[in-house]
Amino acid sequence: MLRICHDKTHKNIKDKIDQSRGNMTKAKIKCVKWAQLSGKRPRKAGCNSRLGEHGIHVKPPIAAIFADDGTIGFGWSRINEEQAQSLLGLHVNDIFDMANGVKKQFHWIEYPIWDLVGQLVNKPVYSLLDESIHEGYEFTSPCYDTSLYIDDLHLIDHKEAADLIASEAVEGRELGHCNYKIKIGRGAMHMPLEDGTLRDIMVIHAVRDAVGAEAKILLDANNGYNLNLTKRVLAETAKANIHWMEEAFHEDPRFYDNLKNWLQSEGLKTLIADGEGSASLHLLDWARDGLVDVIQYDIFGHGFTPWLELGSQLDQWDVGSAPHHYGGYYGNFVSCHLAAGIQRFEFVEWDQASILGIDDSAYTITDGYVNVPKSSGFGLSLDQEIFNRRVNQNGFVVM
Ligand SMILES: [Mg+2]
Repeated sequence: MLRICHDKTHKNIKDKIDQSRGNMTKAKIKCVKWAQLSGKRPRKAGCNSRLGEHGIHVKPPIAAIFADDGTIGFGWSRINEEQAQSLLGLHVNDIFDMANGVKKQFHWIEYPIWDLVGQLVNKPVYSLLDESIHEGYEFTSPCYDTSLYIDDLHLIDHKEAADLIASEAVEGRELGHCNYKIKIGRGAMHMPLEDGTLRDIMVIHAVRDAVGAEAKILLDANNGYNLNLTKRVLAETAKANIHWMEEAFHEDPRFYDNLKNWLQSEGLKTLIADGEGSASLHLLDWARDGLVDVIQYDIFGHGFTPWLELGSQLDQWDVGSAPHHYGGYYGNFVSCHLAAGIQRFEFVEWDQASILGIDDSAYTITDGYVNVPKSSGFGLSLDQEIFNRRVNQNGFVVM
């Protein structure tokens, strides 16, 4: 259940919401536009343990919804023309209610709708989710730099490779990051096993040395390790104090039980994180049973509204929430707002990029936290001229 702004001590705000709920109820959808936008990361992203180069281009699919009172909401959506058509003439409250968010049958358009509702009630989405966050409060969300890919395969020397990844972490620090995720598993496919594993270990140490003792370091093997390799790498990087180990191998309760016992016997506090891709149907049971510490279903694949519900459940089990987000750009921002609705929220996965047509400059990162703008909805702004050009090139309009 969402936690909506009902705080009686902030009567003005409540009154505003009550007043704007009227606006929301009356607003009717009169036009929907969709286009694929494009932009770039500051640096090309290399491989993970099982895939080739991820590249520099990012192409978020964006839908904009126009209400009959002139309000516009926009956001990530893979909507098709037929689906867009089915929204025309609907009132916003046919799709959304304050108690439950976007109704299940409309999850395919949930991001533009959350943004539109925020615009209609003149509030950021985070303050719709947490009654304690009100005007004047600086809302921030912890994040990590997810850009440390396997970018060193052209280098023969392990030390040079480790220095390269460490220099990328320093670039992240200059953007305001304090927490870093390192892709590992070089020996799964890209390099001979022993060489790849040695290099993984050297990279981890080099990054720790570069970012200092306070930074949180996360590892992601994209299922490229097995149990023994996981133990070996965590043992040989014990001094680097790894915060979590993500997708060490395809999740298996026996392996995880063994790994948990081993971590305890070694005195390591490393968390087990999983759930990004092709997750086992039993993953949540294993989380409830204490075998998995952090759940990482994708911010788009699982969705924002379902994540709110899942996060509440995970809170009750004292399990962390850290939605996967890579390559989508838009997830950087919406994940911040999700943090307002989940107590055990771990991190926003931050994949830095700039998109032509979206102004995200109101979001900044300081000391490992995203400073979330107080502006309405998700706090991004869409350049209508550029968007319309993209709509003409690769999208559609229904009205
Ligand atoms: Mg991952």
